[in-house]
Amino acid sequence: MTAIGIDLGTTYSCVAVLHHGKVEIIANDQGNRTTPSYVAFTDTERLIGDAAKNQVALNPCNTVFDAKRLIGRKYDDPQIEQDIKHWPFRVVNDGGNPKIQVDYKGKSMCFPPEEISSMILTKMKNTAEAYLDTEVKEAVITVPAYFNDSQRQATKDAGAIAGMNIRRIINEPTAAALAYGLDKELKGERNVLIFDLGGGTFDVSILKITEGSHFEVKSTAGDTHLGGEDFDNKLVDFFADEFQRKHKKDLRNNPKSLRRLRTAAERAKRTLSTSTQASIDVDALFEGIDFMSRISRARFEELNSEFFNSTLVQVENALNDAKFDKNAIHDVVLVGGSTRIPKIQSILQNFFNGKKMNLSVNPDEAVAYGAAVQAAILTGAGESKIQDLVLVDVIPLSLGVDVLGGLMSKIIERNTKIPCKKTTEYGTSRDNQITVHFNVFEGERVMANDNNHLGSFTVFNVPPAPRGAEKIEVCFNVNSDSILHVTAKLKSNGKRKHIKIKNDKGRLSQADIQRMLADAKRYKYEDDQERERVNAKNKLENYAYDVKHAIEKAANKMKELDISEIRSKCEETFRWLDDNDTAEPEDFQDELKELKDLCGPVITQINGGPNTKRGDARINIDEID
Ligand code: ADP
Ligand code: MG
Repeated sequence: MTAIGIDLGTTYSCVAVLHHGKVEIIANDQGNRTTPSYVAFTDTERLIGDAAKNQVALNPCNTVFDAKRLIGRKYDDPQIEQDIKHWPFRVVNDGGNPKIQVDYKGKSMCFPPEEISSMILTKMKNTAEAYLDTEVKEAVITVPAYFNDSQRQATKDAGAIAGMNIRRIINEPTAAALAYGLDKELKGERNVLIFDLGGGTFDVSILKITEGSHFEVKSTAGDTHLGGEDFDNKLVDFFADEFQRKHKKDLRNNPKSLRRLRTAAERAKRTLSTSTQASIDVDALFEGIDFMSRISRARFEELNSEFFNSTLVQVENALNDAKFDKNAIHDVVLVGGSTRIPKIQSILQNFFNGKKMNLSVNPDEAVAYGAAVQAAILTGAGESKIQDLVLVDVIPLSLGVDVLGGLMSKIIERNTKIPCKKTTEYGTSRDNQITVHFNVFEGERVMANDNNHLGSFTVFNVPPAPRGAEKIEVCFNVNSDSILHVTAKLKSNGKRKHIKIKNDKGRLSQADIQRMLADAKRYKYEDDQERERVNAKNKLENYAYDVKHAIEKAANKMKELDISEIRSKCEETFRWLDDNDTAEPEDFQDELKELKDLCGPVITQINGGPNTKRGDARINIDEID
């Protein structure tokens, strides 16, 4: 059973597989090794990846990206509130959960972020299937190390909606470390810092790699909300302000203009990684006004200096948590497209006292590469070099419950190795208390309510007793996906109480997932139907053009040829095509047959006629078929 590794990125995704003993990064149908994490909805079809991103300026409000910034979060998350201002698509509040609203085939529809992500995962799955020529049902998906429990759960759900069994959720920097360590002959102990700055997220992990085969994560830190798109936003604001100053017009309310400006800004940003100046030039940006401007690398760095410098805070946090001095780091490995920014590299290099940064892994592919290695380990594929790899990861945030006075009582400290299991006892807080309610949180703040609420559970039927006499054992079990499972036991009678964390983080229910899985199949079917329809239409259109062209040419040489009927039939076909854009594949096929039947005798006349020599007026039917 082949299992693939998928890097489900905020802006780009990548898929890899261990095939014939080698990790292969799989190119998509466009020949690209990474695929934009974009899904677009139109009047007639759904587009995923490059096709979606390529039409974004035409259809900004129904082209969805950044689903990873929404996944596993609540609508009232302050980060979401900020993001919504920058997104051209609509995000609505559905009972506290964000949903993305688009027009699809003339209907308004809402999708939870998990479902959008599942569409991207399906695309990656199909890419792998086309390459391997077999169905793929198993995958390892990566997430930022700093993703919390709800974000991980939601990502796993997205995988299930895409019809895959997600064997493991692993951390992106850990996957990158695997890619880094595997093709080096690392000897002894190496302390490696993985610095992963992508489009939407930033992660730092410190690992100890022993003899190139034992990978132990010492600490992780990061910001689930920092990356290249934030730098793009700064540039967009900068240019929009300039436009307003010059032309006294605010283009920010026009999604199309904003989108075109964003595309130009991102391009300028990439240019600034290799040049010290970049210009942008957008025709008819807003109300017909052309916009031309330039920006220097220094200005770009100044606009983003706060973002850039904040990356060091996370590096320091990771070092502190690992109890490492910065001089103890042997290698700093750069991953993620945004680490191509020279200023990021120089800030880091200064911090590490002039140490050279390690650029040996491909920043766009290392994460998927590592995921494929992990997938191979889990399915027992690959040679012993791979099977002997040991990966020890940690949880990114402390886990606990609220206790008297609203304090957070930590049960598992962050950076504890996974999988792990810890039990803590809690006594009743009142005399004759018969129900005890717990809230489960993750985070480092002292007051439980300042942390991320994961869910709650209640233990019922506690026997009446004085305060503190009855004890409840709460057991936290974190599995290899870093996902938490909780059980509780009443000590006095040893009965395990039936408890379940309530889904108040807005997780999809099993029924939702099943429904979306069925929808996914239907969407795929509809996409295939649409492709078939468009192909049938193109075939007719191409035939009509080709035959008209070829017959006109032949008629120039064979004066006796009467092509008037065919000519008018072709014209009629073009008109019919204009009026029947949404016809069914069979209609196009019928039209094609009619046209072919009419043309047949004339083509035979041309090809078989006494005046025809090969290479003269001869029409090759195959060519125009
Ligand atoms: P993610 O994993 O978050 O999807 P990636 O690691 O694929 O992100 O990185 C994508 C980000 O990297 C985008 O914001 C893109 O603009 C940025 N990027 C790519 N190449 C460059 C470059 N040469 N200079 C600056 N930024 C770049
Ligand atoms: Mg990434």
